[in-house]
Amino acid sequence: MRERAPVVIIGTGLSGYSLAREFRKLDKETPLLMITADDGHSYSKPMLSTGFTKGKLADELVQSDAGAMAEQLGIQVRTYTTVTALDTDRHEIAIGDERLRYSKLVLAWGADVIRLNLEGEGLEHVYSINDLMDYRAFRQALEGRRRVAIMGAGLIGCEFANDLVNGGYEVDMIAPCTTALPGLLPDAAGDAIVQGLRDIGVRFHFETAVSRVDREGDGVRLVLDNGETVDADLVISAVGLRPRTELAKAAGLTVQKGIVVNRALETSAPDVYALGDCAEVDGYVLLYVLPLMASSRALAKTLAGTRTEVSYGTMPVVIKTPCCPTAVCPPPLSAQGQWEIEGEGLDIRALFRDSSSQVIGFALTGKYALEKQQLSKEVPPLHS
Ligand SMILES: Cc1cc2nc3c(=O)[nH]c(=O)nc-3n(C[C@H](O)[C@H](O)[C@H](O)COP(=O)(O)OP(=O)(O)OC[C@H]3O[C@@H](n4cnc5c(N)ncnc54)[C@H](O)[C@@H]3O)c2cc1C
Repeated sequence: MRERAPVVIIGTGLSGYSLAREFRKLDKETPLLMITADDGHSYSKPMLSTGFTKGKLADELVQSDAGAMAEQLGIQVRTYTTVTALDTDRHEIAIGDERLRYSKLVLAWGADVIRLNLEGEGLEHVYSINDLMDYRAFRQALEGRRRVAIMGAGLIGCEFANDLVNGGYEVDMIAPCTTALPGLLPDAAGDAIVQGLRDIGVRFHFETAVSRVDREGDGVRLVLDNGETVDADLVISAVGLRPRTELAKAAGLTVQKGIVVNRALETSAPDVYALGDCAEVDGYVLLYVLPLMASSRALAKTLAGTRTEVSYGTMPVVIKTPCCPTAVCPPPLSAQGQWEIEGEGLDIRALFRDSSSQVIGFALTGKYALEKQQLSKEVPPLHS
């Protein structure tokens, strides 16, 4: 008799391991194989931007290695193994020349960092940090250095800026926008974060972008579009993430911003599912932990035999900028309404009200961040 093909999960990030854990609570028998391009360490990615504040080195953020995860969950984990193609008609994946059958396949392979097309001979000093291995390399390069330039003023850029200042580094931030987190926060709340970061010493260069990174001594000189220059030892590029969709697209799966799935996390191919940073769930690409946790609970039930749709609930995001504590719950994409802003300086309460005056989103900074829990109860869930 042919051996039963395993359930295969590609990716051992928070999505992959959360799903494996949830699945094992319901099904201890079905063979489960996880495949990852990296070392398979289990860690909490949000902790990467709190290393200095919490006094942790990269290796101290590891919760378990791949071997310990395999043993704990009764699964197999293949590390340093990159899946190169999918053949959904044959229920197979390719790892180079090797072919491997699956009974069900879960794509939990995350998002890629967006890389700017920069010129200059100092580009080896530019780091993108989207996993523990990136973070380890960055921390090693940072040893004995003092000045960091950050490209991008989004969530990740602002969190690293605050953390690096807490670690004693000098930080310059360069971004084409006019305030912090423009896609996520109303301007007044973004301005509060900028003020908080300025108060601890971060220098901002808004409404311009880096065009060249040239070598200058042991470090670099960034040439900005507005003619200014910024000298630094290292550069972090934090200009955004893009769900990994190429292999799925090549295999004929429906792809838009992410790999398109319905609320049962089903892709357009039978027995193939997606969750986490690579997935576009019911129209939403949400690169955060709470949505992937909810998805992993629902998908575990589906894989164990009970088809289950994800319910998102209200999912506030905490921005880890202790200089200006911030929590945001963005309104739904199609929401009609407007922001109502109160407060000043570091303390902003922004409520997004719809036409019937119901609060359907919020952004809270400074002292108002404490209202997150109460307001989360008032805001209707994304879907229930
Ligand atoms: C610095 C930072 C701070 C953050 N802070 C917060 C926060 O405070 N709150 C919050 O909600 N969210 C936060 N996020 C976002 C959150 O961490 C992510 O949404 C989440 O970790 C994504 O998990 P994932 O498993 O979907 O993807 P990933 O963690 O990216 O995992 C992808 C996995 O797929 C593997 N892989 C990729 N391609 C292949 C392939 N072809 N073959 C085999 N394996 C492959 C990778 O090796 C990896 O194991 C933060 C993100 C960063 C970078």
